[in-house]
Amino acid sequence: MNIPFLPEQLEWPGLPQKNISADILRLDRLHPVISGNKWFKLKGHLQQALQSPGHPVITFGGAWSNHLIATAYAARRQGLSAVGIVRGERPPVLSATLMGAAACGMQLEFVPRREYAKKEEPGFLRRLTDRFPGAYIIPEGGAGLIGIKGSEDILRLTDTNKYTHILCAVGTGTTLMGLIRAAGPGQVVIGIPVLKGFDEWTAVDPHGFLTMEQKTSARLLPGYHFGGYARHPPELLDFMNRWYRETGVPSDIVYTGKLFFSVWDSVRKHLFPAHSRLLVIHSGGLQGNLSLPPGILDF
Ligand SMILES: *Cc1c(COP(=O)(O)O)cnc(C)c1O
Repeated sequence: MNIPFLPEQLEWPGLPQKNISADILRLDRLHPVISGNKWFKLKGHLQQALQSPGHPVITFGGAWSNHLIATAYAARRQGLSAVGIVRGERPPVLSATLMGAAACGMQLEFVPRREYAKKEEPGFLRRLTDRFPGAYIIPEGGAGLIGIKGSEDILRLTDTNKYTHILCAVGTGTTLMGLIRAAGPGQVVIGIPVLKGFDEWTAVDPHGFLTMEQKTSARLLPGYHFGGYARHPPELLDFMNRWYRETGVPSDIVYTGKLFFSVWDSVRKHLFPAHSRLLVIHSGGLQGNLSLPPGILDF
């Protein structure tokens, strides 16, 4: 995939601290569906899956999952069939995300939540591969080493050495760990967890993909989950509209809205040293805003 853009200066007239600068890497512009960080986490998996063409890829997600629809679209483009295991009972009306995934030809299978929670257990996976022999299974969210390695390429899109701080939203932490592994010496990578209780390295990196040194040089910045995953109180929605008016940058309610809030709040509190040069990763995900009734967001 060609990436015809560079980090842009964040046009932020109200930037509360004048002696720092902030650029934004608009991965949301990569592609309308395979948006943001998802392509980076998927590309290695798709390469592997293409080794056994004719077999489906299977992955997992909720009704508004950016990962699920990105996989559906990317698989179709590569000529692979795809099965999506969806958390929860089939609703009477499919979400826009699921309709989009189905329109790409993804076969959707609805799994009750209690069952879905077991999706990484050997028994669950065996039942899947019994039904879809030779299938290639992509972990939920594209998590794991292949996704981490793919995410390292985000910092190789362009020369990112000049930045002192790199900031991203944290779901599974896959993107964050890729950025940390690819960052140069002295660069501080800061992850903003959007899940409650995901503020410790033991939670983000239970498999030890990062060295102690990498964990020490990076930061998890807690306190910006707004009540938990996908929670979006009015305070967040108001901020997202204000941020859009001030900077022209749209955000999503699950990840980037919380990321941008944390950037705004940290700058306002002068948490970055003078002359810091921030790189904020816009990881995409705007399609998820369709879960809101119309008229709430100004974009
Ligand atoms: C999936 C997603 C993330 C989280 O990425 P992880 O690698 O799972 O931490 C962040 N932002 C957006 C917009 C996403 O869709």
